[in-house]
Amino acid sequence: MSTPATRDLSAGETSSTSRHHVVIIGSGFGGLFAAREFKGKNVDVTLIAKTGHHLFQPLLYQVATGILSVGEIAPPTRFILRDLKNVKIVLGDVSDIDVTAKKVKYVSGRLDIETSFDSLILAAGANQSYFGNDHFEQYAPGMKTVDDALELRGRILGAFEQAELTTDEVERRRLLTFVIVGAGPTGVEMAGQVAELARNTFKDLYRSIDPSSARVILLDAAPAVLPPFGPKLGDEARRALEKLGVEVQLGAMVSGVDGRGITVKDEAGKERRIESACKIWSAGVSASPLGAIVARQTGAEVDRSGRVRVEKDLSLPGESNIFIVGDMMALDDLPGVAQVAIQGGRYAARQIIAEVEGSSDPTRRKPFRYFDKGSMATVSRFNAVVKIGRIEIDGFLAWIMWLVVHLAYLVGFKSRFTALVSWGMHVMGNQRSQLTSTSQQVYARSALEHIEEAAATVTTFTPPEHVEDDSK
Ligand SMILES: Cc1cc2nc3c(=O)[nH]c(=O)nc-3n(C[C@H](O)[C@H](O)[C@H](O)COP(=O)(O)OP(=O)(O)OC[C@H]3O[C@@H](n4cnc5c(N)ncnc54)[C@H](O)[C@@H]3O)c2cc1C
Repeated sequence: MSTPATRDLSAGETSSTSRHHVVIIGSGFGGLFAAREFKGKNVDVTLIAKTGHHLFQPLLYQVATGILSVGEIAPPTRFILRDLKNVKIVLGDVSDIDVTAKKVKYVSGRLDIETSFDSLILAAGANQSYFGNDHFEQYAPGMKTVDDALELRGRILGAFEQAELTTDEVERRRLLTFVIVGAGPTGVEMAGQVAELARNTFKDLYRSIDPSSARVILLDAAPAVLPPFGPKLGDEARRALEKLGVEVQLGAMVSGVDGRGITVKDEAGKERRIESACKIWSAGVSASPLGAIVARQTGAEVDRSGRVRVEKDLSLPGESNIFIVGDMMALDDLPGVAQVAIQGGRYAARQIIAEVEGSSDPTRRKPFRYFDKGSMATVSRFNAVVKIGRIEIDGFLAWIMWLVVHLAYLVGFKSRFTALVSWGMHVMGNQRSQLTSTSQQVYARSALEHIEEAAATVTTFTPPEHVEDDSK
């Protein structure tokens, strides 16, 4: 619980100048690329983020399946922005934004802190969505954070370990059944990797089980795999997954998830059950609730995914100094992908710089133009799909393109170099150097939740009057 103390860490207080103060919320693609634009500019920037790292979410599945380490995809933000002397980084969970007073409130450790801004860039991204069934989460974690990936890695490896020990054949089948919900890029990549783990990496490693007998099921309520990639690439991806032994079940809506398995309703409304110890959720997202907080104060529209409908210049309607970028914004049906966030973050920062330098005013901003660089997803080793406009590529060439693009966007030389070594080991020798998991990684989150629940019970517990002190 945080202390009631509230400190103002606005730039005016902490620096000797009274320069324009920009607050950026989030160190993901939108926030990081916005911050970089301010290098050497006549502004003070405070970047507030819940985590101390910049997370390359598109490669989380490789951490979950033991190919890459956390450090390779999540370098500390302080290191990345160390040369930007006018950018201050603070670890904090933003809880409120006052649009009229231009103040942001956040909790950092045990402190409640408030800071004022002249301009704000909101880039707090999105969370996993369970479409109103949040209780599914404990049984089928999503993949949005480093904690999620490490927990999933532990659950996947743990299922094989338990299967090796059990003598009950039915239980062994359950432990060796992996269900991935959502056949978008993350679901496809995850299903391909779990299948490759079972069929290739784990070959000859166990004595009582045959890991290659594991069932890997990819489910989706939609009738297609990878819908945004179009039917041709979607079918290619499906064929490649089936060749790896993945069972692709489409038109299958999840109606229940529990510790023992998953219940699925098919298109005719008939329910069936899949007994599975390890379930992975990659089916939907909902934007950060901070969007709704600012929208409520200005009457801006919020869509079904919690994204705020922004103006053509990415500003909050009626508030030209507040920008919303990346997964939190709704504009022209732009997808929730890294490039939208990167380009949006850069654009917002440039508008602020232009105004501070006096070369532009908010009424004359050129609208944001998104340059679509295409989409890509890996299916398995040496196999990917790429769509750039009307160009569709699959197979090895697409996989090389995927490799080059992901190397280019991994932040920092060290991350690129070590990722390249890890990928080399994986593709040449089928090796995964990050197959370590601790029980803390799997259970710590739920253990902490239980401690918090227990603490809440203790603080609200009032002993009955007749209880005697027996401590003497
Ligand atoms: C598993 C996965 C795979 C993906 N694969 C691809 C892909 O292959 N290609 C692609 O283009 N896109 C992919 N995406 C989507 C892409 O990662 C997102 O579109 C992109 O990260 C959005 O950037 P953002 O800056 O809006 O949000 P994010 O990158 O999510 O960053 C949000 C930031 O806000 C911080 N934050 C959140 N709430 C608060 C708060 N209350 N207070 C303080 N800080 C807060 C977070 O800690 C984080 O730093 C994938 C996403 C996932 C989850």
